[in-house]
Amino acid sequence: MSETTIEPQTQSFQAEVRQLLDIVIHSLYTDKEIFVRELISNASDSLEKFRLKQLTEKNIYQGELPLEIEITTDEEAGTLTIADHGIGMTREELTENLGTIARSGSKEFLQALKEKGESNASVIGQFGVGFYSAFMAADRVEVYTHSWDESGESLKWESDGQSGYTISEAEDEKRGARIVVHLKGDEKDFAKEATLKSIISKHSRFVSFPLKVNGERVNTVEAIWLKSKKDISEEDYKEFYQYCAHAVDEPRHTLHFSADAPININALLFTPDENHERLGFGQMKPGVALYCRKVLIDPEPQGLLPEWMRFVKGVVDSEDLPLNISRESMQDSALIRKLNTLLTKRFIKYLAKEAKSHPEEHEQFYERFSRFLKEGIATSYEHQEALAELLRFESSMTDEGKKTSFDEYLTRSKADQDSIYYLVGLDRKSMEAGPYLEAFQKRGIEVIFLTENIDDYVMETLREFKGKKLVSADRAEIELDELPEQESKLSEEESKELIEWLTKTLGDKVEGVEMGKRLVSHPVVALTPKDAPTGQMRAMMEAMGQHAPEQKGRLEFNPNHDVVAKLNSLRKDDEETAAKVALQLADNALMAAGMIKDPTSVIAGMNSLLGALMR
Ligand code: ADP
Ligand code: MG
Repeated sequence: MSETTIEPQTQSFQAEVRQLLDIVIHSLYTDKEIFVRELISNASDSLEKFRLKQLTEKNIYQGELPLEIEITTDEEAGTLTIADHGIGMTREELTENLGTIARSGSKEFLQALKEKGESNASVIGQFGVGFYSAFMAADRVEVYTHSWDESGESLKWESDGQSGYTISEAEDEKRGARIVVHLKGDEKDFAKEATLKSIISKHSRFVSFPLKVNGERVNTVEAIWLKSKKDISEEDYKEFYQYCAHAVDEPRHTLHFSADAPININALLFTPDENHERLGFGQMKPGVALYCRKVLIDPEPQGLLPEWMRFVKGVVDSEDLPLNISRESMQDSALIRKLNTLLTKRFIKYLAKEAKSHPEEHEQFYERFSRFLKEGIATSYEHQEALAELLRFESSMTDEGKKTSFDEYLTRSKADQDSIYYLVGLDRKSMEAGPYLEAFQKRGIEVIFLTENIDDYVMETLREFKGKKLVSADRAEIELDELPEQESKLSEEESKELIEWLTKTLGDKVEGVEMGKRLVSHPVVALTPKDAPTGQMRAMMEAMGQHAPEQKGRLEFNPNHDVVAKLNSLRKDDEETAAKVALQLADNALMAAGMIKDPTSVIAGMNSLLGALMR
């Protein structure tokens, strides 16, 4: 060993990488060709990074090399080489970038990838597994590289994609990276120039650097977002979406617009077909890149859009941005905040328009992406009401499976109704059968059915819609009109005495007891005291394995109900049994309201009651 050479170092892949490679290599992956797109995309990223380095760094290695991507094929050898003169990698960077998965949540990602099997096609690039996709077609990959930094070395990284990789010294590499893909026996087709050109025109048309195949220029660099709408076809939009989102699906929405005031802006935004977070993949990164006059400023800018809009993909270009803006100063610049507000408003307005003109498509979108809209309501006050207009739900006045909106609710509400009522529960059936709905139904008041665990929280933060308060229908403080035809089975005096007796008998099991007019077919209901989390909310928390604080309810008894009238007689003849009945009624109501955690105590009470009845 001479003084200057270092022995080749063989290292194993991080466990996650090994798993990932195992999936990549063995899964029945239909779109193998996208590995070409991934490698070109990495070359392009690296050139973009170099462009920024040039602005700030001095000791640049081979600064004169052209910023382009060169692809060469060798049919005989069965290889494909993708080379760029971007930033390249140092020894440490090779290990870090091509031996590990940096992305947080990669374990969850792998789990989901395994479970989803076939449908993993569209996500492979989106989760930082881009480079490793080369092993779908290759049995060996070599990466020759030299960092942009003068002090870097010429290096060779090599792997068969099995267990590990080897890094050794290379000779006189130019700045950047040169990826040599040794194709597997049955994948040699990728080494054909014609095949490659067609893959490039399909997946990599929009790369913003010159692309050459065997010396011949194959792309025109175009900033599609700066072109006029009439010059862009649906197909162009689709291909651009797939290019910038690393996707294989079709965009669901395409929003292309420009503005001059108050800020110059050209934006091309897409929503994807599927929501990968919903399928169990980790949280998405920002998907809208920021440009200034066609120059990429930041591919994943924080703060350009609110976090809930992370499912949106595309490009924003603003001439008003200073070219040398740094990522740090960008996050809290007033300009970015303005862009954020403007883009968000515009996007929501667009969705609202789409929801009106294509209600069925909106429902499909809603089914997959409502989570983000709700997150937006909960986190961005400024856009709450506009987002609330996009919400859809079933209600006591819709047929099962049919959805309505707040606006539609208001067209049906009573002239003097100052609230919008809702329930949150596991499903429509349980809310229909529960004790809360009937009082509203008797009075012709619509109640919205919400079934997602975050709905309660979303309603609490939203508070009102177009001046109408949002009120959970299980609240004790709701005052409903009396129903005139109701005839009480108990006199006022009897009611009063029964309440006194119940208050004494139930003790501190409940927060209070009263006679109410809201019930029709149930003897008693437990209501949520003002400002306490609703019972459904707590039941939901429990179901999700979270700790829900114990909550005492207010009981409202129904003086028109047979059971209540009989209880009043029984307490005079057999107070001991009557007390057991009262406790059981209370338990039933509290349990239905999700206010009792441990059903065993309820069962014990029930058994004791049965014992008393069979004496
Ligand atoms: P991603 O591109 O999403 O970061 P990849 O798996 O495609 O994930 O690439 C992993 C990392 O390897 C990149 O982030 C980059 O740091 C490095 N890399 C890959 N290709 C190149 C290249 N041509 N030049 C410089 N660095 C590269
Ligand atoms: Mg990549």
